[in-house]
Amino acid sequence: MRTYAYGYPRLGENREFKRLLEGYWQGKVSSDALREGIAELEATRLQTYQAFVDAYPVGEMTLYDPMLDTAIMLGLHPVDPNNLDAYFELARGANALPMTKWFNTNYHYLVSHLTPQTEFRLSWHKPLHAYRKHPKGIPYLIGPYTFLRLSRGLTPEELPALMEPLTHVYGELLSLLKESGAKYVHVDEPAFALDLPTSHLRAIREAYERLGTNAPLIVFTYYDSVDFLPVLYDLPLAGIGLDLVHGKRNLQHIGQFGFPADKILVAGVVDGRNVWKTPLGEVAELVRNLQSRTQAEIWLSNAAPLMHLPVTVEPETKLDPALKERIAFAKERLHELQLLKTLLTTGETEATRAWNAYQHATDHWYSQAVQERVANLRPEDFERALPYAERDKLQRARLNLPLFPTTTIGSFPQTPEVRQMRQAYRTGKISAEEYEQFIQDQIRHVIQVQEELGLDVLVHGEFERTDMVEFFAEKMEGIAFTQQGWLLSYGSRVYRPPLIYGDVARTQPMTVKETAFAQSLTQKPVKGMLTGPVTIVAWSFVREDIPVEQVAFQIGLALQDEVRDLEAAGIPIVQIDEPAYREKAPLKRADWESYFRWAAQAFKLAARAKPETQIHTHMCYSEFSVVLKYIDWMDADVITIEATRSKGEVIEAFEHYNYARQIGPGVFDVHSPVVPSVESILTVMERVIRVIPKERFWVNPDCGLKTRKWEEVIPALRNMVEAARQLRARYGS
Ligand code: GLN
Ligand code: ZN
Repeated sequence: MRTYAYGYPRLGENREFKRLLEGYWQGKVSSDALREGIAELEATRLQTYQAFVDAYPVGEMTLYDPMLDTAIMLGLHPVDPNNLDAYFELARGANALPMTKWFNTNYHYLVSHLTPQTEFRLSWHKPLHAYRKHPKGIPYLIGPYTFLRLSRGLTPEELPALMEPLTHVYGELLSLLKESGAKYVHVDEPAFALDLPTSHLRAIREAYERLGTNAPLIVFTYYDSVDFLPVLYDLPLAGIGLDLVHGKRNLQHIGQFGFPADKILVAGVVDGRNVWKTPLGEVAELVRNLQSRTQAEIWLSNAAPLMHLPVTVEPETKLDPALKERIAFAKERLHELQLLKTLLTTGETEATRAWNAYQHATDHWYSQAVQERVANLRPEDFERALPYAERDKLQRARLNLPLFPTTTIGSFPQTPEVRQMRQAYRTGKISAEEYEQFIQDQIRHVIQVQEELGLDVLVHGEFERTDMVEFFAEKMEGIAFTQQGWLLSYGSRVYRPPLIYGDVARTQPMTVKETAFAQSLTQKPVKGMLTGPVTIVAWSFVREDIPVEQVAFQIGLALQDEVRDLEAAGIPIVQIDEPAYREKAPLKRADWESYFRWAAQAFKLAARAKPETQIHTHMCYSEFSVVLKYIDWMDADVITIEATRSKGEVIEAFEHYNYARQIGPGVFDVHSPVVPSVESILTVMERVIRVIPKERFWVNPDCGLKTRKWEEVIPALRNMVEAARQLRARYGS
């Protein structure tokens, strides 16, 4: 029995990766210093692996993103990877590749565009270089299917034809690795956990029948189970990595059909996506069970790459010790693998006993009142008092908005000054009063700006918020924060997920002060701004002792209290953002209904306002047609969505689905510094109005404006308001 770990965070214990990259971009770190720094980080990573596990991959390190590296390796971008500026140009230059979420995680990868004519050519020997430098490791690759499946431009029917030429390139590389002495090659194929058309399955089989003869491959699947294990069993592979934490069906399959004796079973038994310590005793039992089902050699490993965890809990001095006891980040996961092996080979020890003892949680984490509130929910508690059509009448009478009402998504530019003041307040350099005064001044300014622009529904600007989840999580009980628990989101960007460990409740109003202040300054309606329960859950580490939907319901109820307080303060509209509604969805379609059922219910708990209060929600993605039905389930009065970058896809979705509520398809792209002209906005609107009746059409940007500059925002919004006026002139009567 061996231990194997992969995907260890590249960020470094003190976010060295971020500092190096950003230092280089700002011209403060030389290219040599960057290379040396990254090499040092890589050496530390490998040493950490070595300290705990028997085997590990080499070549995982990247300067930006492994998918980008794979694309360069395959010859899709004619850059010399040693030319740092050319490399970073692809990642973050003016013509950078688009970025999208990696499976249902919060990591973003760079997306390559392919066509059926795309040709591949081995253009970078990255895995070979890594292996030569460190021959003790197992060379690491992203597999051909995952690469193709996650690229854009191909229809599902076109994909299989590209597997064949791609296999040649991979074959060439694998042969080189084998010649250099590689005993195994680590091939990541998480896309095997998706739903696969049969034509893809056939292409995978053909590809790996060939590739398996080039070198001994261990194919890693994770994030969910694989529906075609019998096919993998038959392929000439040296081993298969299976996620046994999130892929319970994998376990069932092995239970029923065993596992081939001639392959290594890399058993993903410690969680790579959540932070709760592994119950070693139970997992040891599970491994013994596997051993009774197969003669195969078993490697104990992580389920899912460890990069979804922060580096280590060691520096967390402010966490409740009882909580710190119970969590494991990446380094602690490696330790768990080591302990697990000891437990299985030599029996229980002091250390394994201690590690197992965490489970019984402390009472002060739990609130009977919160639990009872969720337990007592009846079906009608999820529904608003009146159906949409009747609410709509009341809301129109109350709000008296023009045709094509204009609004924004919530945030306005977070200038360096705003960030400095927030920081100064956090570190105690200015008093609460001074800070509050500052925020009020910002709100006064943004209200004045919006009035001058002639927007119809105003917002307070979100100046008091750093992050839309952190802001609410900090104000709720049962949620903790780490000091150093950073994860890479993309490039050098990091975020710190909150830890939902106990029953969640609101202790006092969270947004009423700022929202009511904004409303006091204007006759126009001000829209309250909340982050929805699904998004809070999706961007946090969540307790696992109760079902996730119960956690979401607790948060939904806390937000409902907030909505009630906003109503009492005279706020007529509340927007509940759910940008993670779609992304939290399970990988396999078969699991969607049950997920979206609780997700919609959690949202509806939060949104259970009076009929005359208008509830908005916002999400920022395209790929709309597949989820529109589930968005309908949310029963929001108005949805605002991203529409400008998706080139008509969103509009098409509404052509095929009879969505009866109000919609604000973003009419300009907030991710671009370009100021949209009145004409370009009108063009988008004219397209939209063909599918969305004019009475239901809201006019807004496609996301929050916090990353933009005021100089960009003012003319963009001015043009948007002007475009709405022209549209009214054309269609109003
Ligand atoms: N209200 C938020 C904002 O404007 C929404 C952000 C988001 O959708 N990601 O910033
Ligand atoms: Zn958005």
